[in-house]
Amino acid sequence: MLIDTHAHLDYPDFAPDFDDVLRRANEAGVTRIITIGTSVESSRRAIALAEKYPNVYAVIGVHPTTADESGEDVITPLRELAKSPRVVAIGETGLDYHRLPSIELAKQRKAQVFAKALQSSTEEQIEADIHDGAYKSKQASLFEQQLDLAAELGLNVVIHQRDAWEDTLEIIRPYSGKLRGVFHCFGGSLEQANEVLDLDHLVSFTGIVTFKNGTAVREVAAQIPSWKFMVETDCPYLAPVPFRGKRCEPAHTRIVAETIAAARGISLDDVAAMTTQTAQEFFRFNRT
Ligand SMILES: [Zn+2]
Repeated sequence: MLIDTHAHLDYPDFAPDFDDVLRRANEAGVTRIITIGTSVESSRRAIALAEKYPNVYAVIGVHPTTADESGEDVITPLRELAKSPRVVAIGETGLDYHRLPSIELAKQRKAQVFAKALQSSTEEQIEADIHDGAYKSKQASLFEQQLDLAAELGLNVVIHQRDAWEDTLEIIRPYSGKLRGVFHCFGGSLEQANEVLDLDHLVSFTGIVTFKNGTAVREVAAQIPSWKFMVETDCPYLAPVPFRGKRCEPAHTRIVAETIAAARGISLDDVAAMTTQTAQEFFRFNRT
C-alpha cells in the first residue's frame, strides 16, 4: 500500500477521466490520495472530492504564489472549512520567491527598452524593493495565519518552499513543538534535509527523483533516515520518467517509491511500509 501524499485532484486536468485516474492509482497499489488545496476555492473543491471518494482526503490552504489574489484574512474561511472530518492537515502554505514582482518587472522593462527611456537605476531599485517587500510580507502573513490555525486545531502542515529557505525556517521555527511540517517536493541538499529533521519536520519526494538531472535529490532520498520521508506525485505536475512532460497522476507514486527503493537498496515493500506509516502518523486520518 502506498499513499500519494500530495496531489491536486481538483485541477481541471483530471476532470475528463477522474474515475480512471482513481482506478489506475488503485491498480498500482496507491490506495490513498491526499488532495491539496491551493486557495480557499481549491480547498473547498478538495473537501468535496474527499467527501465523495472514501480513499481521498483533503489538505486545505492557500499557496504562496496565489497571495496576490488572496484576501488578507485566510484563517477565518479555512477554520470554517477545517470542520470537515475529511481534512487531514493544513496547506499547502509557505514562501515562494521564485517569481518576485521585481523580476517580472525587469522582464517587462527589457521588452520595452527600445520603446521608452529607462528610469534611473536607483529609482528602479527602490520601486522593485517596495513591490518585493509587499509581496513577501503578504506571503509571510498568510503563512503565519495557516501555522496559527494548524496549531489551534492540532493539525500538521504541508509546506511549499522555493528560493526562500532561510525565511521559511525563520517563520516556522517558533512553532516547533506545536506542529510538524512536511517540506513537500524536497529538492535541497542533505544538510538542508537534516536541518528540517532536526526541527522534527519531514520531507517528501516527487518524480524528480527519477529525472536524469535528479542525481542530487536521489542521493538525499537514498541517505535520509527511514521514517523521516514520504512519497508524493504533486500531480498533475512532475510526472516521473518515462512519463516526464506528460500529465502526472497518483498511480505514478509507485514509480517514485520504486526509484527510492532502488537508490536505498531495499524493496518496494519496505519503502511502501515506512512511508505509509510515516504518513499515517503525520496526517490526521481519523478526525471525528
Ligand atoms: Zn502542490
